[in-house]
Amino acid sequence: MTKVTDDLQKQFDAIAEQFTLESSIVFLTGAGISSESGIPTFRGKGGLWEKYDPAEYATAEALRLRPEKVWEMHDELRQTIANQKPNQAHLAIAELENIFKNFTVITQNVDNYHQDAGSSNVLELHGNAWRVKCTAEGHSWVDKTVPFNELPPKCSCGAPLRPDVVFFNEPLDPEVLDLAFSMASNAEIMFVVGTSFIVYPAAYVPVIAKQNGAIVLEFNLEPTALSSFADYSIFGAAGKTLPKLVEKLKAKFKSKKNK
Ligand code: NAD
Repeated sequence: MTKVTDDLQKQFDAIAEQFTLESSIVFLTGAGISSESGIPTFRGKGGLWEKYDPAEYATAEALRLRPEKVWEMHDELRQTIANQKPNQAHLAIAELENIFKNFTVITQNVDNYHQDAGSSNVLELHGNAWRVKCTAEGHSWVDKTVPFNELPPKCSCGAPLRPDVVFFNEPLDPEVLDLAFSMASNAEIMFVVGTSFIVYPAAYVPVIAKQNGAIVLEFNLEPTALSSFADYSIFGAAGKTLPKLVEKLKAKFKSKKNK
């Protein structure tokens, strides 16, 4: 295992060596990548859980018993997302997609910022905050109303809507999860950005990638449980560190094309 801790540029030189234009690249992103956009993470200082108790606001049971409370937090999150925008880390990832053919972003986030930044190959593990779902008929659609006039908002059939996101104690869409695991197992380079590595099953993604031979690159403010098996851990704000690596990769492959 290569654990590089000295000068960032040297780390990035070493990392850039591992890439070819044919490399199969997979990103797993979490709430931390959007924190520099002003979207609070769940855990940590200033996190949503300091204000909202997850048991009361983000479980399947809470949705059944107190849908207006669940919507209160969700409506606030939607307003925050609407008022902010993708940051340099989202934009850097979107730029990489223009270089590499085999490129996927798997995100735990619901804010749509990867797509807003220009990424087109995005797999959302936990749903999307802009989607709503009829609790009676089960169909879902995009509704960008912020804020809603009544909570919970209603479907035209009269039934309450729910956010089309995955709450605690709810299973992930098995098709989406299978696809994520399959991409992880084929990854040659696995980036893990801004995730605490304690939310399962998403946390299996880099484990599967590593077991299948991928190089794992972690970008986080601080060490996580992933740091002990990641090949490279880059500590710092992703909006600062990730664009530096992307610049290096752009330079490497531009000069190759010019030869
Ligand atoms: P988390 O809140 O558990 O952890 C966030 C991680 O990001 C931490 O390890 C933290 O050190 C790191 N981090 C914070 N700021 C960073 C930065 N600038 N650069 C790099 N790293 C940074 O988040 P999680 O692991 O994604 O799990 C929480 C769940 O909450 C996920 O399912 C996610 O969908 C959901 N969530 C999503 C959003 C969103 O869509 N933006 C916001 C809050 C929570």
